[in-house]
Amino acid sequence: MQLPKYKKKKRIKLKVCQEPGCGREFWGHPIAKYCELHRDIKQRQKQKKEFDSIESKNMVFRHSYTDVVEITFQCCLSACENLFAIKVFPKQFLYPRFCLEHRNDFKRANFIRLQRRKSRD
Ligand SMILES: [Zn+2]
Ligand SMILES: [Zn+2]
Repeated sequence: MQLPKYKKKKRIKLKVCQEPGCGREFWGHPIAKYCELHRDIKQRQKQKKEFDSIESKNMVFRHSYTDVVEITFQCCLSACENLFAIKVFPKQFLYPRFCLEHRNDFKRANFIRLQRRKSRD
């Protein structure tokens, strides 16, 4: 990554966006919290709503099982190929989207950040 030329004058630091689900790295003041996109408050509220909604971590799985069955899904995080087994219950349609590891918000954000870095190199 290239350092901006004005780094020394303005004490710019490499920060990580605080917006849940973003995790983008950006150069900003030591007190800056958000990347360029999320400095726009409209973007921030919209993102936040989506992230907080149940659907962001869960998926609707329509099925007609009348018994409890165990089904293997693949993590919905792109580039993650982890498989995870879920017990599917009759008349229950909401299930986790991510593998065990990526159900953790922090680990998921971290994974996305690493993927971004990889594709940049
Ligand atoms: Zn951001
Ligand atoms: Zn995963």
